[in-house]
Amino acid sequence: MLSYRHSFHAGNHADVLKHTVQSLIITALKEKEKPFLYLDTHAGAGRYLLSGEHAERTGEYLEGIARVWQQDDLPAELEPYISCVKALNRGPGLRYYPGSPLIARHLLREDDKLELTELHSSDFPLLRSEFQKDSRARLARADGYQQLKAKLPPPSRRGLILIDPPYEMKSDYQAVVKGIQEGYRRFGTGVFALWYPVVLRQQIKRMIHDLEATGIRRILQIELAVRPDSDRFGMTGSGMIVVNPPWKLEQQMRDLLPWLHRVLVPAGTGHTSVNWIVPE
Ligand code: SAM
Repeated sequence: MLSYRHSFHAGNHADVLKHTVQSLIITALKEKEKPFLYLDTHAGAGRYLLSGEHAERTGEYLEGIARVWQQDDLPAELEPYISCVKALNRGPGLRYYPGSPLIARHLLREDDKLELTELHSSDFPLLRSEFQKDSRARLARADGYQQLKAKLPPPSRRGLILIDPPYEMKSDYQAVVKGIQEGYRRFGTGVFALWYPVVLRQQIKRMIHDLEATGIRRILQIELAVRPDSDRFGMTGSGMIVVNPPWKLEQQMRDLLPWLHRVLVPAGTGHTSVNWIVPE
């Protein structure tokens, strides 16, 4: 039984970090003419109504995208991401938030492909209706981890794989490492981007230890926390772990994170970091 619905959290600080990194990777992949695959193992519903009951109940987007949206000195690194948010909000207000599949849909080119997997019985039909007319996309109501075996390597031999589970079950912390390992074995030149929440620091340390033990090299970690680590107050921050990051990503995030932190966390609590878990 899946209880997690991303509609409660869409556009929060963790989405801002995740979708910024996702859009920078896609932009880098587009620097070469050759098409690529975007594989989203945990795709969600695709589009989120920010004035809807779920988003209004938590108000998380007010401390996320709503803060970024109001700024008039947006750094260049945010341009691809914000262009996706703007494409869904033609008027002056912020009504909809694009999930990762819609970010990819907006940024991908005609010959690029999308493979989107979502298991939830309510979110999958919403996602399917978003992509009804997009011939680049293939959708499956299936287990996202299985796709790391079934869909890799892509015929184009280029691609971004976004792995973004809800971590409802503690086993997700191990499943993501196993999934990356299996995906990497089939497609060692792919870019794998894993999102993680910081709830208990110990869980992240263990996950990183397991990743190091796979022997995979070139693993970059990017983190943005809105509060200090704590074992009592739920999610205090989140991060992205990127295997085979585009060469510019490290510097782009080093340049951008201080601005993002200042805008998302006016109180100045928490931290940002960019570091190599495993270098070249
Ligand atoms: N990637 C989306 C985005 O950034 O807009 C958000 C995804 S949300 C964090 C996680 C999603 O994974 C939920 O919609 C949930 O229903 C779905 N899910 C949970 N377990 C899954 C599985 N084993 N395979 C595929 N989807 C799953």
